Amino acid sequence: MAISRSYLLVRYKYSVLGQRLYSSMSDKRGLVLGVYSTDGQDDVRLTKFAQKYNESTSGKLLEQIKICGPISSGSARIYWDLGKYPAVAVAGLGDASKWDELDEINGVKENVRIAAAAGVRALSACKIGTIEVEDLEDAEAAAEGAGLANYKFQEYKNKEKQTSLPTVALAENNSGSEEWDKGSILADAQNWARKLMETPANLMTPTIFSENVKTKLASLNVDVQIYDEEWARVKQMGSFLSVTNGTKEPAKFLEITYKGDNSADKCIALVGKGVTFDSGGISLKPSASMDQMRADMGGAANVAATIYALARQKVPVHVKGFIPLCENMPSGTATKPGDVVFAMNGKSICVDNTDAEGRLILADALCYASTFNPLFILDIATLTGAIKVALGDCVAGVFSTSNKLWEQIHEAGYESGDRVWRMPLFKHYSDQMCDHNGYDLNNLGKGKGGGSCTAAAFLRQFVDKETPWLHVDIAGVMGDCSDQSYTGSKGMTGRPMRTLVQFIKKAGS
Ligand SMILES: [Zn+2]
Repeated sequence: MAISRSYLLVRYKYSVLGQRLYSSMSDKRGLVLGVYSTDGQDDVRLTKFAQKYNESTSGKLLEQIKICGPISSGSARIYWDLGKYPAVAVAGLGDASKWDELDEINGVKENVRIAAAAGVRALSACKIGTIEVEDLEDAEAAAEGAGLANYKFQEYKNKEKQTSLPTVALAENNSGSEEWDKGSILADAQNWARKLMETPANLMTPTIFSENVKTKLASLNVDVQIYDEEWARVKQMGSFLSVTNGTKEPAKFLEITYKGDNSADKCIALVGKGVTFDSGGISLKPSASMDQMRADMGGAANVAATIYALARQKVPVHVKGFIPLCENMPSGTATKPGDVVFAMNGKSICVDNTDAEGRLILADALCYASTFNPLFILDIATLTGAIKVALGDCVAGVFSTSNKLWEQIHEAGYESGDRVWRMPLFKHYSDQMCDHNGYDLNNLGKGKGGGSCTAAAFLRQFVDKETPWLHVDIAGVMGDCSDQSYTGSKGMTGRPMRTLVQFIKKAGS
């Protein structure tokens, strides 16, 4: 192909401009400081670290802040050439008592996450290349907020047009580096889960997901076994395999083992739904927003990222992850509504609706997890749209056969800021799934409404009665959530991975 001179010139200009755009982050350092305020009052109280910094500016920083009055929670103001750093973002820590008891959240920690994120975003918008964040009197929460705000999914955009992200670290001479590192690991793990979920389905197939997890966990003393469909056939996972009938993409099953405590015989079992694309199958979904179903492996991403965080933090627990991975597509070989399939425990299931496929793949994964006689099983899945109808986009629904485990995960959500809410496991719902003439279970409930509850009742049929169990439905918090400014309101969230880490630290010790 002949290339004209003018084309080359345009290309040259374009790349020069592009180059400049890409490397436009300055090598300037910026600092994020915190300030408390009380609604309706003019008083401004600096954090301990900010007080010291203020002294180094002979009190000029506080004077400047006072000119415009208090800085509210979620906002940040930038001051230039005050003290050692060219740019200082002062972020509002608000007033923790503003969180109501019924909000069920640790308001102090949550305000720190919000402030750290606001400070980082303000400096990042000014192209500050290196951002240091003070501990904001809770270094772990500060690192979580800062790390989660400093994320952008732009993998497949032209490199020259990508936004370069700043380097974020704990402020020099600030104590709390151990706590900061813990928080950074959590943010890093959740950002990985977000990336796995956001990646388009053709670039995140069961095979690619498996390899991603294996590569990421390889250096962390975590064993990852990738099984194929033949393995699942030998295990008689007919329910799982029925979902992959309509696609050419091979299904996979991951078994991940992290043994941070060699003395622990029994493991904690985590099971994650990994439908890398859910078209609904023959019970095809409407085409609007169907692309969102690339994130129908959010449970799988949560399990992988949780184990990644536990291993990086070297938490002394024994955890196994079980992840069934497949696509749900509608080809001529796809499972048809009304087909009856058999799960690993021998139960027969009528597939009334091929779009209720998550429970089908989880059924076999729960049976398989049960064979390890674990301390307890937690499954997590983007399972039902009904959970979003019930709870909206700010909280995941939890069903549990154990009050103790429920209380522990509830407490974990309070601390992490990623809350959970208990849902019922009434016999009423089980009856709706199990009372049939020709087979043991139907994958759809008989009654109207309560779709999340009947889904949980279905899963319960595949967990050993003696094994305590929790089911976490995360379809509501999967993406585009409006309640956490630090995670952002657009895109896949990786939630509530930090709650799982917090929970397992407690429940496994
Ligand atoms: Zn579905």
